[in-house]
Amino acid sequence: MKILVIGGGGREHALVWKLSQSPRVEKIWCAPGNGGIASEAECVAVDAGDASALVALAEKIQPDLTVVGPELPLVNGLTDAFRRRNWAVVGPSQQAAQLEGSKVFSKEFLARHGIPTAKMYGAYDEPASAYAALRSVAWPLVLKADGLCAGKGVFLAPDFAAAKDFVERVMEKKELGPGGKRILLEETLEGEELSFIILTDGERYAPLVPTRDHKRVFDGNQGPNTGGMGAYSTDELLPESLRDTVISMIVGPTLRGLAADGIRYQGFLYIGLMLTSSGPKVLEFNCRLGDPEAQAIMARLDFDLSEVLSDVAAGRLDASKLRWKPGASACIVLTSGGYPGKFETGKPIQGLTAAEQNTGVKVLHAGTKLAEGAVVTNGGRVLGVTAAVASLPAALQTAYQAVSRIHFDGMHYRKDIGAKVPRLKAAGD
Ligand code: AMP
Repeated sequence: MKILVIGGGGREHALVWKLSQSPRVEKIWCAPGNGGIASEAECVAVDAGDASALVALAEKIQPDLTVVGPELPLVNGLTDAFRRRNWAVVGPSQQAAQLEGSKVFSKEFLARHGIPTAKMYGAYDEPASAYAALRSVAWPLVLKADGLCAGKGVFLAPDFAAAKDFVERVMEKKELGPGGKRILLEETLEGEELSFIILTDGERYAPLVPTRDHKRVFDGNQGPNTGGMGAYSTDELLPESLRDTVISMIVGPTLRGLAADGIRYQGFLYIGLMLTSSGPKVLEFNCRLGDPEAQAIMARLDFDLSEVLSDVAAGRLDASKLRWKPGASACIVLTSGGYPGKFETGKPIQGLTAAEQNTGVKVLHAGTKLAEGAVVTNGGRVLGVTAAVASLPAALQTAYQAVSRIHFDGMHYRKDIGAKVPRLKAAGD
């Protein structure tokens, strides 16, 4: 089997890593890939956002299966172009990807199908109407840009002044680009977050292991939001009663809602949940695997990923094929100094081989590239040091031990990934 993976971050390295372990797989290309993916696949310098170049690439190399990692090509309709040509592809259609591409679309979907979520005050196309709406909301308030904003489109405002400032920057100064043309306001939910990701072929689905990520850049959840500073997975995140509630109140109605709306969803569906005192509620949908959740999930995977993803593309998913290593996994993200603000790139990375010495450790690359044979930094999030072992404390200890062997100029990481013990009774159960 020959497989094309689209994307070039840590999530895609995790996918390539597991796909390359399948005896059925003889060749993997990755567009554009990165410095770490290059040792497991052939990287092709095509941008993940360039749909016509990707179609041309697939025409030339003729993969048996294409797996789309990031949201941008999905929201731009890449999989529709592939399916029109009868090419096997994993990833939702442009219409289905609106669940992530438009927050208003997803809020309306949730409301239409009675799925628990934060109350929406309204959505606004004009700054004046957004300012007016700020007069009759409760504080703190959540403001969301409607479109894709590379993780920067959500703001938790403590008061009117902060909310007004966000509206001004997003709608008037257009700091987030076209994704900020419309803003929605919603109530703030309290609780712990949980990432629940499923794989579906449009009819059947299989849940992946539960994960939790850490978005703020500094320890103790301080500082600005990032793409994700680390994640961990343990079954303890999702006790059986909570799992049953999530499936009956959220997953079932979501899949039935998609079917009722005539939307066929084939791929990974990420359901971001807040475990509130009145039960789990949907914070957001993403139309793909999370990053760094994917790294923690793939580390626990114990089945042939190429086979299951082929089944998804062919519309014959068999959930019993998904098997998981017991225990836990953790992924610690190492970033360039200054991220998510300004940072420098091109710093040589030391210790990559030493870091993988211990059993269960895998260093997954995100923002790296090869320069004259050496691996150098090439982005904000540089590496995801991942470990899967028998328990969460052991996974964290193993991952941090591996981190201590890696060095590059300006390297930053959080020291408290997974530090908070999961509250088993978080969701009102
Ligand atoms: P989203 O992209 O909608 O998931 O938002 C990103 C992050 O913002 C989430 O992971 C939450 O941490 C936070 N968030 C979003 N919506 C809410 C809400 N209604 N209440 C509290 N936090 C929220």
